[in-house]
Parts: sequence; C-alpha cells; structure tokens
Amino acid sequence: MTIIRKPSPNFNERADHQRPSYIILHYTGMRSLSDALARLTDPDSHVSAHATIDKDGAIYDHVHPDKRAWHAGKSYWRGITDMNSASIGIEIENGGHEHGYTPFPEDQILAVTHLVQKLMGIYDIPSDHVLAHSDIAPDRKQDPGELFPWALLAANGIGTWPAPNEDDFATVKDWDLDAYTAAARSFGYDPSCGYEFVLRAFERRYAPELILGTSQDETLARARLACLLRLIKR
Ligand SMILES: [Zn+2]
Repeated sequence: MTIIRKPSPNFNERADHQRPSYIILHYTGMRSLSDALARLTDPDSHVSAHATIDKDGAIYDHVHPDKRAWHAGKSYWRGITDMNSASIGIEIENGGHEHGYTPFPEDQILAVTHLVQKLMGIYDIPSDHVLAHSDIAPDRKQDPGELFPWALLAANGIGTWPAPNEDDFATVKDWDLDAYTAAARSFGYDPSCGYEFVLRAFERRYAPELILGTSQDETLARARLACLLRLIKR
C-alpha cells in the first residue's frame, strides 16, 4: 500500500472516547483529486475523512482513526445519530453524479479492500458494519453509488451481499410498498426519511441493476432485503 501523509486539522475526540464500530465509504464527488484533498484539509471547510484513495490506489492519510473525522454530516443508522463518533470515513476519488461518475478502477478497489480489511482487523469491525454514505443519509447522499462493486468487496469479507433463498422470495410475496419500507427501516435506515429515499438508497446499495436500469426485477431486490434481515447480526 502506498500511503501518503496529508494531515487534516478537521477532527476532534470521539464522543465517550468510543472505538469506531462502523466504516463509511464515500466518493469525493469533486472535479479532481487535488480539489478534494484541498477541501478535506482546509480548516475553513469543516469537513474531513480519515483517508482518501486515489484512482491508482494511493492512500492519502488525513486523520488517525482513533479520532473523530467529519465526513458523515446529518446521518442515522440503527438509532445512531452521531455517525462521526461511531465510524471511520474513507473517501474514494470519483467525480460522482455531479462531476463525471465513472467505474471504479481495479487498483483503487484493491486499495479500498486492503485498507478496509486492515481497519476491520484493528478495530474488530464486523463485515456488515461497512456502509455507504447513502445508507446513513438517504435523502442527501448518493455515494459511493450504484457503480461501486459491493458484491466484489463482499467476496473479500467486506460488507454484505445477500443471496436470497426460496424462503426469502416467499416472504416478500405479500409485501406491499409499506411492508417493503418498514423492512428497510427495521434493517437500519432512518425512519424519519421518506420511503422513496430509503428504498432508493437500499436499491442503490443492494440492487444497483434497478438504478442502472439493467433490470426491472423488484422482487429480487425485496428478496435481498428479506435475506439481509434474516442474516442480520446486531
Ligand atoms: Zn459522502
């Protein structure tokens, strides 16, 4: 791993000196890497992350993971509202939906995999505690988005990629929109967010083919949610 020190002054102590128990993945969503690095280290921006990963896999180290970086903003997951205290935030260089959303290169994903695996080991973070920014702020954020290869990461022990069985498909047979929304909220999404945001965030993460328009199979998306609820570790 190529690690380059690029310290940010934008951090403080985690509430109650807690150890991080989640990892949040972001894309930078800016025109260039240098723009993103400048913003994440500018004392006037009041934003940061623990690290940024360039397209070629180089890792810029901003804030020690013991400290609280400022990457999550207003957010929620399973009752937690101070996600900055609870998590490590990693930025992944990509123009995003505003400045050119392109597939994540292999070298970059390899570096994400290595860094996240290392942090999961150090802090004893379970695989299902690796989340997208869009998971914890569905009405504000889309990152890292539907092109992010979550299935590939799950094959390397990061995050979850559900493989629904017959029972899961049977479970969702009777789900209307309310039941689907309720299931997503009981999985962890913010109950105060509108259903359209919650379901879009879920599908962006776990049924990207619906967002990309390459499939219309909503039943599969729902069965994946039923599967996740069955497997959930709390
Ligand atoms: Zn983000």
